[in-house]
Amino acid sequence: MQLPLSETYRDINSNTILPPLDKTMIRHYLCYKHKKIDTVVRLYESRHLLMARASVVGDNTFVKGYCRKTMKSLQYEVDIVLNINGNPEASHCECPAGSGTNALCKHVAVLLFGIKNMVREKNLLLQEVCTQKLQQFHVPKKLYTGTPVKV
Ligand SMILES: [Zn+2]
Repeated sequence: MQLPLSETYRDINSNTILPPLDKTMIRHYLCYKHKKIDTVVRLYESRHLLMARASVVGDNTFVKGYCRKTMKSLQYEVDIVLNINGNPEASHCECPAGSGTNALCKHVAVLLFGIKNMVREKNLLLQEVCTQKLQQFHVPKKLYTGTPVKV
């Protein structure tokens, strides 16, 4: 897979312009049965995604994500290319099942669901490390998902 330079990637937040990926496109791309989709959604909801970044080149959006390996602290790098309509065109994952340019492993699936969630709900569930949590005395109740603003 031909990827853009790593410094062109930016963390995905609710201000990131992403192509309109939806659940049907994900299902068609992965050819998953409903039961397998449910498993992937559970993995995503239990925060198996560590981070997601995007880089736009012409009509294509390249998304890079890191997905935690189930039950272990290992992580896999996942790359996905989406076209302007949101359809996934190619994907690659570091795991044994994800080689080549059409990886359909669960790590690719988890990243696709993350992107879809950001497109549809403006929210992305990532794993939180303990130092990400500030002390709670003056912390607002509502989560801010936009680009950071200068104080
Ligand atoms: Zn994989």
